[in-house]
Amino acid sequence: MQAVRFHGRGGQGVKTASRILGAAAFLEGFRAQDSPIYGAERRGAPVSAFTRIAKEPIRERGLIAHPNLVVVADASLIQDPAARVLDGIDDCTVLFVNSPLNPDQLRAQTSLPGRLTTLDLTGIALQQFGKRGAISALLGAVAGRLVGLRQESIREAIARELGDLGLAASAIERNQKVALQCYDAVPVMTIEKGAGPALVAAHLHVPTYEPPTRGSARISASANSVLRETGGWRTFRPVLVPDKCNGCWLCFAFCPDGVISMTKDDKPVIDYDHCKGCQICVHECPTEALVAEREKEGGVAWRAK
Ligand code: SF4
Ligand code: SF4
Repeated sequence: MQAVRFHGRGGQGVKTASRILGAAAFLEGFRAQDSPIYGAERRGAPVSAFTRIAKEPIRERGLIAHPNLVVVADASLIQDPAARVLDGIDDCTVLFVNSPLNPDQLRAQTSLPGRLTTLDLTGIALQQFGKRGAISALLGAVAGRLVGLRQESIREAIARELGDLGLAASAIERNQKVALQCYDAVPVMTIEKGAGPALVAAHLHVPTYEPPTRGSARISASANSVLRETGGWRTFRPVLVPDKCNGCWLCFAFCPDGVISMTKDDKPVIDYDHCKGCQICVHECPTEALVAEREKEGGVAWRAK
């Protein structure tokens, strides 16, 4: 069985990527199973998705604890302990990271274990689509290539899954074209059969339930959201072009996380430790005084700028 675990941020399309991979495998006659898991349902929050592919019926369910392949859609997740990107990987695991850095450069910044391969999917998407957005088809194609699926299956799976989401035929075609370019471009690593520890039978555990006030103590405690520095969630950061700003306060009003404050002369100041990079302020600014700049790669420098 191939066990593939995707890690990304809300809005990047890892759930759809896992579905594309599962659908492509199914089209080639394999059994396939895919499922996502969300924590906070917020744009930019860490999201995981799982795809299992096998010739035999798949009886294992739930999270993938020991993946053969890990696909990371956003390098900033590597250093986010809550994302648990490196859980259960060993020297046999293939790790794909969406990054403009080559494996040696990335390893120098992050000490990643496993067998590493990279490709700058975000850069390719910006170049080919001309805008930021979901890279689900690209991630699905790269994962398909790494587990050894055929191009035709990936192409058809992209059409099915993006079609189900209501994308126009022209957009689906563009996604297929760029995804297959990524399929060809990703440096391939063979996934070793039998990687990961053998499964052992486990007894079912019956959980006991605590009253909500005890079970949600961290949620009901006041004023602790400042401790979670969501600045590490960003792929793109909003940057002010002061000369274009007319001081209308719209960015302040629309920021869902309340991380924009205004100066006495009506200019926004962004708290980059907590700005999660949703780009709503960029979208809402009437004068294009806020622009999106791509974050430094590796997830290590978001604070430094
Ligand atoms: S929305 Fe744009 S123009 Fe208005 S205050 Fe914010 S940056 Fe300035
Ligand atoms: S400052 Fe802009 S990008 Fe950052 S959280 Fe607020 S709306 Fe989103």
